[in-house]
Amino acid sequence: MSESLATVSYIGATILFILSLGGLSNPETSRRGNLYGMIGMALAVLATVFGPRVTMSGIPWIIGAMVVGGSVGIYAARVVKMTQMPELVALMHSLVGLAACLVGFASYIDPSVQLAGAEKAIHEMEIYIGILIGAVTFSGSIIAFGKLSGKIGGKPLLLPARHLMNLVGLLIVIFFGWQFLHAESVSAGMMPLIVMTVIALLFGIHMVMAIGGADMPVVVSMLNSYSGWAAAATGFMLNNDLLIVTGALVGSSGAILSYIMCRAMARNFISVIAGGFGTGGGAPAAASGDAQPAGEVVAISAAETAELLREARNVIIVPGYGMAVAQAQHTVNEITQYLREQGVNVRFGIHPVAGRMPGHMNVLLAEARVPYDIVMEMDELNEDFPDTDVAMVIGANDIVNPSAQDDPNSPIAGMPVLEVWKAKTSIVMKRSMASGYAGVDNPLFYKDNNRMLFGDAKKMLEEVFVALKA
Ligand code: NDP
Repeated sequence: MSESLATVSYIGATILFILSLGGLSNPETSRRGNLYGMIGMALAVLATVFGPRVTMSGIPWIIGAMVVGGSVGIYAARVVKMTQMPELVALMHSLVGLAACLVGFASYIDPSVQLAGAEKAIHEMEIYIGILIGAVTFSGSIIAFGKLSGKIGGKPLLLPARHLMNLVGLLIVIFFGWQFLHAESVSAGMMPLIVMTVIALLFGIHMVMAIGGADMPVVVSMLNSYSGWAAAATGFMLNNDLLIVTGALVGSSGAILSYIMCRAMARNFISVIAGGFGTGGGAPAAASGDAQPAGEVVAISAAETAELLREARNVIIVPGYGMAVAQAQHTVNEITQYLREQGVNVRFGIHPVAGRMPGHMNVLLAEARVPYDIVMEMDELNEDFPDTDVAMVIGANDIVNPSAQDDPNSPIAGMPVLEVWKAKTSIVMKRSMASGYAGVDNPLFYKDNNRMLFGDAKKMLEEVFVALKA
């Protein structure tokens, strides 16, 4: 393929990626967005493999790598459950970070690169920054994977003088950066490069270990952004314009998402990155606050739930992580359809951090074919709870916790929540009295107008549906 054809293909792929991101911003256009992304990626891969910079002898290596990578990808996509998606995404981010590190080291020791003067300095700066971002992304994403899969506890690790440690780490990285740029030879530059990589790896681990449970969503989207910048850095090192543009698209959209998440959680972005947020001023998450929930919980049966729903005019359903675990979205849709046919106004309230990844609930509800126009953002319907007869909380916990508003010592204090307790009756469906991801007790369960429907969400909803139709 000629240089100009490859360039045209790259421009085409770039446009398709932008259209893809645009499409993904709305559930109704998201399928088209995905399609644009797939075509763009296919075009990008073909233009790279058959482009002018790959020699014939390199093609078998690339195809071999694609077969191995593609097989792992297909296998993972087939076996991974929807509830494991966030962990898979975190693992994939870690691979982007690892790739940036490896490409960085490879381009540094590449004997065919003979640069001098400013060009050499710029290339080495790209390598240094690329490996720095890559290493933070790699180790941070591995820890995020551990935390999301429950292999590492959600409690924040609060080392003494952690901010000072971060600052010293940063100063050492700058110092060794200077040493690296002034190294006489490749072997002399290796030491500062390796020291910086180790510090960056430790920083990534520390950054995510110090995050409180409820702040994980911000970190996940931040690592998504980092993986984009790591890819862009790889693009600079390899002189590949498409990789730079694609990385920048992922990096900036991830940064915007992190900002939106921070706003949704009423968090300060810098404080979350610096770590230790979501800890209630240092208290462990589970031992939070003065206001311990008190009183009795009132259990309710599936038949009684059906009765309440039958009599309701306005119903708001609040899905959470438990709906994903139980795979209850299809039964939720059946109940919704039935109630709507009976003239009940049913809407869904989606919290920005419900579930375990951004958009988790929207994906599940779209999969079950719940109409988009009744799926509302938290801000769109939070004021409507006082006029709601039944608020059905399906496997959600932290996102409906009133202590976020009432208890300034709570680890989730200040986080906006769906105010389901303002409805005439709220029904919480979950299996036990266990806390959610943030490990915080929930006073909602003890409120006079709250009822608990204990059991697996799918099983209980099926019983509710049977009772509704009876
Ligand atoms: P939570 O983790 O707060 O609560 C989920 C509840 O679901 C649990 O209390 C559990 O209770 C219940 N549950 C689990 N399995 C089932 C089942 N089979 N049937 C019925 N119920 C079940 O989830 P939320 O969605 O309310 O809040 C999300 C939390 O995750 C927030 O703290 C958020 O910060 C965090 N997070 C979000 C991310 C994102 O990007 N969205 C990423 C990382 C973290 P029980 O065991 O009693 O059944």
